Amino acid sequence: MITINENFLKLQDSYLFVTIAEKVKKYQEKNPNKDIIKLGIGDITRPIPKNIAEAMKKAVDEMTNINTFRGYGPEIGYDFLKEKIIENDYKKRGINFENFEVFISDGIGSDIGNIVDIFGIDNTVAITDPVYPAYLDTNVMSGRSGNFSNGKYGGIIYLPVNAENNFVPELPKEKVDMIYLCFPNNPTGTVITKQELKKWVDYARENNSIILFDGAYEAYIQNSNIPHSIYEIEGAKEVAIEFRSYSKSAGFTGIRCGYTIVPKELQGYTKEGKAISLNKMWNRRQSTKTNGVSYITQRGAEAVYTKEVEAQIKENIKYYMNNTKIIKEGLEKIGFKTFGGENAPYVWLKVPEGKKSWEFFDELLENVGIVGTPGIGFGPSGEGYFRLTGFGTKENTEKAIRKIQEYYQP
Ligand SMILES: *Cc1c(COP(=O)(O)O)cnc(C)c1O
Repeated sequence: MITINENFLKLQDSYLFVTIAEKVKKYQEKNPNKDIIKLGIGDITRPIPKNIAEAMKKAVDEMTNINTFRGYGPEIGYDFLKEKIIENDYKKRGINFENFEVFISDGIGSDIGNIVDIFGIDNTVAITDPVYPAYLDTNVMSGRSGNFSNGKYGGIIYLPVNAENNFVPELPKEKVDMIYLCFPNNPTGTVITKQELKKWVDYARENNSIILFDGAYEAYIQNSNIPHSIYEIEGAKEVAIEFRSYSKSAGFTGIRCGYTIVPKELQGYTKEGKAISLNKMWNRRQSTKTNGVSYITQRGAEAVYTKEVEAQIKENIKYYMNNTKIIKEGLEKIGFKTFGGENAPYVWLKVPEGKKSWEFFDELLENVGIVGTPGIGFGPSGEGYFRLTGFGTKENTEKAIRKIQEYYQP
């Protein structure tokens, strides 16, 4: 008899986006003539810069020529791309890495999901609440949680972030081993200062824990005092893995490429307390379970580090950030309390007094024709909050905010 990994049975249906889609469909069937504007998605909408496509086309042509054709590449990425990453994303900020500390992948969705392979099953996991769901679900699947009840998985340490603590998680009172941090944050759009992040690095050093730092929105940082990388914090190389993606910056959500930094200083421990290199373990894991990302994709990612493409990426980010500004300022004008949206393409707002996230969702859909994301969908502390994204068009964003203003004008 084939048995299953029963940890999967603990997983809650990822009902959030399914429920949203169902509600929208029902509404559209009942109101076929009414427009709806979707500001709920977490996906880019601007096309990729032309020069990225040109670099990829050139790589495709190379594949047709016997002298330049490439078969299997290095499982953990080509040096030409790693060198650009080290030079541009790190050296410019005073951080040095060697090529073997950079692992190229088909996006950090995979890396975040797979990294749990190299850690013991007994580790205690801490996440912020609300949270990007993948950190939680991948640990549930691999057996690092108890059952789900009252909105939470047993055995997982939830660190609430809310208006009261300014969306900066407080250090856990208990000892945790694996800590997931995402800044700029999805879903709240908020950021962390160097000082605050240093507290986490210090905690991890004292407790021999590891920080899994998701920097998917690094390119959206506007304020100069916000760290772009956790390695800007002294001592972080000994306690942190960093995930970076071309998805939300260069528009690679469909192309697929990202990278993960596992510094050579980083160690985990056997039960007997023997230190083991996590870099070597991750290398072994990736070389065994993947055959890498296509040469064509990596040439496309390499083109990100050219002047022309950098300028176009900046333009796209400016476009999205202008949308979040329209949302944030437009809502504040009529008395909404909003958070984030200044260094990330997400605005997190407090729903009107006395309402729950889903009630506000229904009201916004049915009376105003706008789709957003209820905060509760990201964790119990998201109740009473709501996410709107800057990934729509400028025209739709302006129209949506005008309609919200008309409806909620006090
Ligand atoms: C979009 C997103 C990712 C996934 O990135 P990919 O590289 O496209 O897999 C990871 N983390 C956060 C917080 C995201 O919003």
